[in-house]
Amino acid sequence: MGVLDGKKGVVLGIANSRSIGWHIARAANNAGAHLAFNYQNERLEDGVRKLADSLSNPVAVLPCDLTDDKQVDRFFEEAGAGFDGQLDFLVHSVAFANREDLDGRFVDTSRDGFRLALEVSCFTLVAAAKRALPLMQASGGGSIITLSYYGAEKVVRNYNIMGVAKAALECTVRYLSADLGPDNVRVNAISAGPIKTLAARGISGFGEILKVVEEKTPLRRNITPDEVARTAVFLSSGEGGGITGETIYVDAGYHVLGL
Ligand code: NAD
Repeated sequence: MGVLDGKKGVVLGIANSRSIGWHIARAANNAGAHLAFNYQNERLEDGVRKLADSLSNPVAVLPCDLTDDKQVDRFFEEAGAGFDGQLDFLVHSVAFANREDLDGRFVDTSRDGFRLALEVSCFTLVAAAKRALPLMQASGGGSIITLSYYGAEKVVRNYNIMGVAKAALECTVRYLSADLGPDNVRVNAISAGPIKTLAARGISGFGEILKVVEEKTPLRRNITPDEVARTAVFLSSGEGGGITGETIYVDAGYHVLGL
């Protein structure tokens, strides 16, 4: 018996086998969950379908660019229909900023680059939570999880606009938790240490971040994606039942360091 046996979950933000969303999906499937995935565009569809096919439980794989309200509506209608109108957990593992905004000086961020990063990396959580809510109400409650990073609270070189977007995201988690708590829906962020993924490759000097963390962090190592995944399963299940509005660090302790 897994802790998510019979639970229904949506995972948004799988691009390939390195995606944090994929690691979470695999762990949730192994814990017994039935899942639905989105793919952002046709270029990613085949890869996401192949990953879905490798799981033991059948997965609904549906298109959804989260910046398009019509696609978001359709995604949750179809995923919800496949789950008999119910949903137990939602994983939002989505972010984007233009490459030029993840390098050099933050002051040079363009208006369009700012808007894009905040929309994709923060507002999409609100858009998804709104559509997930009625399905979670039908389930008697639910758990929403998003992914953040330490650059939300301290300046991390080149993280720039994404740091501002993650600060907004963590605050969004708090507001959503207050809104949705009376419906027994919990909302939390996992602040993960650096992991080599497609999104991370867009951050200038990312290799240096991995090296510094390994040298300095209390555990003297980088985290594994599976450690993030297991925390997401904990938060999705009854095991994390008392936790909402929180940002939980899975960063080998890096965030406690001062000098
Ligand atoms: P990733 O590139 O594998 O995942 C990002 C996902 O966002 C992709 O699947 C992409 O398709 C999706 N996406 C972007 N724009 C979208 C849109 N308009 N509509 C729908 N989907 C869209 O990279 P990842 O590192 O797994 O990132 C997942 C989350 O984890 C992000 O929020 C990221 O900021 C966060 N995070 C990553 C790290 C790290 O070091 N990799 C650390 C902490 C937090």
